[in-house]
Amino acid sequence: MSNVSRAPRWAIAHKFPAQRIETVLEDIDIQVGRTGVLTPVARLTPVNVGGVIVSNASLHNEDEIKRKDIRIGDTVIIQRAGDVIPQVVEVVLHKRSELNKPFKFPTMCPSCGQESMRVEGEAARRCIAGLACKDQAIERLKHFVSRNAFDIDGLGEKQIQLFWDDGFISSPADIFRLQDRRADLEKKDGLGQRSVDNIITAIEKSRVVKLERLIYGLGIPQIGQATARLLAMNYGTLSKLRLALTSAADKRTTEYHDLIGIDQIGENVADDIVNFFQDETNLKMLSDLENQLDIANYESSIIESTKVTGKIIVFTGALEKMGRAEAKSLAESLGAKVVGSVSNKTDFVVVGGEAGSKATKAEKLGVTILTEEEWFKLIT
Ligand SMILES: [Zn+2]
Repeated sequence: MSNVSRAPRWAIAHKFPAQRIETVLEDIDIQVGRTGVLTPVARLTPVNVGGVIVSNASLHNEDEIKRKDIRIGDTVIIQRAGDVIPQVVEVVLHKRSELNKPFKFPTMCPSCGQESMRVEGEAARRCIAGLACKDQAIERLKHFVSRNAFDIDGLGEKQIQLFWDDGFISSPADIFRLQDRRADLEKKDGLGQRSVDNIITAIEKSRVVKLERLIYGLGIPQIGQATARLLAMNYGTLSKLRLALTSAADKRTTEYHDLIGIDQIGENVADDIVNFFQDETNLKMLSDLENQLDIANYESSIIESTKVTGKIIVFTGALEKMGRAEAKSLAESLGAKVVGSVSNKTDFVVVGGEAGSKATKAEKLGVTILTEEEWFKLIT
């Protein structure tokens, strides 16, 4: 659920046969993600799995380690399928040494040392220090400059780390103030005038930004590209969005009902959005950032009528090219109306893999059925 647009890549990856192999789990590292989630990563004795040397594997979370009783020093079976990060499938128990003790998941954040918190009903443990936590801040900045957000070339992980350590950037807005520190930057090892020029030019280019990219770049938990676009589409401008989402903290308001009325935004996602706009630090960061930017309000890409303008569309089954939310917002941006169930008013039913009753119903009603391929041909 966390990132709907990521679904197809996993689906595709599962088509490759999974490779399983035995190795030793040497250590468990805890990584701090951009939203503060502490993720355990298995450090393995490097092993060749289907032609790729694997030395790390995902352990998901605290409960998963407990459930599989994975201990440091254990011999484990790892599995790798397609491009998916390898997983630890199980422990080879008869090879376990008595010295291997059950793993104690740290309660402190390994980056900033703050107490971590486990939210009721969530599997993840989180560091709640926000931008004050180094790893979290760096992950957020990396997300901010990434291709689908501000797309700042030349400002990679290495530079962010470097500039963070020097105190040049600690929040997104600082990136746009880097030009004032040109002389300091040029003195940095391995940078020099040329690469500083390139970085500054890339930053300047990204000052003009589309609202949906800005929203995505903020790194609000559970807000992927598709949801960011939906928010931009529904609120149009940053000031309207901020005003509405700040008011939406009170669940009795129309602002809250409008928010959960947006398709694909359930109460759980709405909570994350509302929480983000309740946090003083986030609001300060945002207005600081706003002063540096030239934000382009959301513009519907309906330039003229398309082949699907005014048509009523139903998506069913698993789509390969993009997630359901993304397909829906794309269709809507072309002027179509996307609904959840098939009726005789439906114009097209777009059928992905393993489509069920909706396809059958469409057939019965004589509604035009399109494969995903045919759908894309129609709209491109
Ligand atoms: Zn932390």
